[in-house]
Amino acid sequence: MKILLINPPIPYKYRMFDYADEEGKKAISRRILVGPPLGLNDIAGMLREEDVIIIDQKTEMDQYPDYDPLEAAEEEIYAFQPDIVGITCLTAQYNYVRELLAVIRKINKNILTVVGGVYPTLCPQEFAGTGADILAIGIGKLSFSQIVQEYKEKGRDGDYSHIYGLALSKGNGFVFTKSLGEMSYQEFQEQCMLDDFLPNRDLTERYEYIFPFLNKKIQYLSTSHGCTHRCNFCTLWQLTDGRYFFRKVESMIRELKGMDQYPIIRFCDANTFGNVKEAQYLFERIIEEGLHRNHMYFADLRTDTVLKHPELIQLAAKAGLKVAVCGVEATDDEELERYEKKNNVETIKEAYKIMNEAGMFVNGNYIIRPDYTEKDFERVGRFIEDNPIFHAGLTILTPFPGTQQWEELKSQVVIHDLDYYNLTNAVLKTALPEKEFYHRLTELFKTSGRATGKFFSLYGKEEYKKFGLQVAGM
Ligand code: SF4
Repeated sequence: MKILLINPPIPYKYRMFDYADEEGKKAISRRILVGPPLGLNDIAGMLREEDVIIIDQKTEMDQYPDYDPLEAAEEEIYAFQPDIVGITCLTAQYNYVRELLAVIRKINKNILTVVGGVYPTLCPQEFAGTGADILAIGIGKLSFSQIVQEYKEKGRDGDYSHIYGLALSKGNGFVFTKSLGEMSYQEFQEQCMLDDFLPNRDLTERYEYIFPFLNKKIQYLSTSHGCTHRCNFCTLWQLTDGRYFFRKVESMIRELKGMDQYPIIRFCDANTFGNVKEAQYLFERIIEEGLHRNHMYFADLRTDTVLKHPELIQLAAKAGLKVAVCGVEATDDEELERYEKKNNVETIKEAYKIMNEAGMFVNGNYIIRPDYTEKDFERVGRFIEDNPIFHAGLTILTPFPGTQQWEELKSQVVIHDLDYYNLTNAVLKTALPEKEFYHRLTELFKTSGRATGKFFSLYGKEEYKKFGLQVAGM
C-alpha cells in the first residue's frame, strides 16, 4: 500500500520580527524550531511493510524560500499515486491544510485522507467540509496503523468505527469513535505507547536538521506522552486527555544506540521529568551505556521539579543534559496562577541557580501578554537581568482555539487568521499602542542578549567552549 505523510509548512507571519529595528532583529533571531516531524516518523515506524514517503514541507520552506508547497505536494501525489495521505496539523498549519485537502480531492477523490495532530484534536469541527475523511484525535501511532490494516483488508470504504480515537467524516460533520481517554491507564500504556516500534528516520534522512547555534545535526527522541500538569494555555496535555505516560527505558536506550550520527538529541516531550523515578533510571542507563559521550541532550523541564529533585539534575547533567528548556511563563505569582502553572517566582529563581551551577544552558521562556503596561515590561526586563540564564526566550500570549485560555480570552481576539497563531504575533488587542508594544518587546530581546553575556561571565566561558558552543563574542 502507498502512503504519503506530509508535515505542512508554517506560514511566515512574524509581526514581532517585522516591527523590530536592525539591532532588535539580530536579538530576536526568529524562533528556531529545527527538527524532524517525529510523529510522522513514528507512524512510518509502524508501517515498515508498506511503501511510505514523508515530505517535510516545513523544512523545505525553511531551507528554500522559493519552495511552493502546494505545487510540490501536487507533483508528489501525481508521481506517487498514494492510497492514503496522512497530514499532521498544528493550529498555524490549518489554512494550508485546507488548501492541501482541496488539491488532493481535485487530483483523486479516492485517496483516503487522514489528518492528525494538535489542531484536529482540539477543534475537530473545523475540518467539516474540508475533504478530510478521517481525523486522528490524540496520539495517532496506533490508530493510523489500524486504519491502514482496515483499508488493506476491506478496501478504502472499510469500517473504521471500531478504531479508538478517530472522527469519521459523515454528511456535513464527523462521527466520533471511542475516545482514547476511555482506555484505562494500563490499556493505553500497553496498546498505544508501542515502545518497541521505533520511528523510521530513514524517510526524513534527506533533510538537513542542523541546530544553527552549534552547527550540528539534531534529532528528536520521544521519552513520554502527555504531561503531569494542566496549564490552561497548553495544548499538549490534551493529546492524552491529561494523562502522562513514560516510555520503557530500555526501548529508548535501544533507540539511542542507533543514533550515533546525531550529536544533539532533543527529548521531544511536554515534560521529560514527569516520572522522576523513570527519568532517573533513563539518565543512569545513558551513563552506563556511555551514551553521554557522543551526545548532547536537550529536554523540557519544570523548574519546580528542579527544586524538588536537585540530585536528579546533577545526574542528568552528568548524563549529558546540556540544554534545559523551561516554560517559566511569568515573573509574577498572580500571573502564574492565572495560567494554572502551579509554580511560583521564588522557585524559578532558585531552580535557575541549581541548573546554572550544574553546567546546564537554561532556555527559559517568558509569555508576554498583550495587555502588558510599561510597568509589566519593566518587571520582566528586571527579572531577566537579575536572573541570568543562557537564553531568555519571549513569546506573545496566544490563546489557541480549543484550550481553556481560548474560552477565557476569545472575546478579545482581534486577529482571527490562524496563520498568525505561532506565538510571535499579538492576536489580542494590546493595552499599549501596537507599535509601542512591539518596541518594548524588542527591547526585552536586547535585555535577554545582555543577560546571556552576564550568564557567561558568571558561569565561565571556558567551560562552555568545551562543548563546541559558538557564542557571539566568545
Ligand atoms: S507543564 Fe508545560 S507541557 Fe505541561 S501542561 Fe504546563 S505548559 Fe503544558
